[in-house]
Amino acid sequence: MKIDLHVHTSNSIDSLIRPEDLAAKSEKLGIIPAITDHNSIASNNLFPSIAGEEIKTDRGDLIALFVTDLIPKDTLFEDALDIIREQGAISYLPHMYDSTRHGTVPKENEIAKIDVIEIFNSRTLLDRYNQAALEFAEKHGKPGAVGSDSHFLLEFGSTYNEVPDFDLDDPKQFLKSLKKAKFVKKKAPFYVRGTTTVVKFLKRAFK
Ligand SMILES: [Zn+2]
Repeated sequence: MKIDLHVHTSNSIDSLIRPEDLAAKSEKLGIIPAITDHNSIASNNLFPSIAGEEIKTDRGDLIALFVTDLIPKDTLFEDALDIIREQGAISYLPHMYDSTRHGTVPKENEIAKIDVIEIFNSRTLLDRYNQAALEFAEKHGKPGAVGSDSHFLLEFGSTYNEVPDFDLDDPKQFLKSLKKAKFVKKKAPFYVRGTTTVVKFLKRAFK
């Protein structure tokens, strides 16, 4: 099955993806998204997905996959890792070396608590940031995964993980399955990042 582990919807301040449109595209392409809205958990009964949250911690972004209870914005990075564990969820570290986008590198004592490293993020402009994340994952024996970080529907479908089927409610099966992942990676068009900033501005202005 195909999964994209990093997708935003209109619940995020900087995304315009309507859940119903994502549902249609997900079904058409056969790619199941993890919905990872900023500091919120989207309730989705429309189509198969993985519940996620991209938390803005005190140090940078951290994604919780299979999350059940909201982890508040500005939670300490290390505390967020512990809360994710307590929930039986999976920690997924996005764009860790991308300093322009709230990436953060775990401290020595935190590394053991990270479950999965995002080794490719479609919106990361500099290839060396993705390359460094891949090297970090290899050095520390962490499974890698890829995410489109879609904020617009056109981005969804370019990047995904092809993995053996697993039960979407089972984080342990997911981790096992991810070890056999094949990655399809494509960078987002260069203009999408600037456009996201405009969307954020307009959504704030017209709220
Ligand atoms: Zn994101």
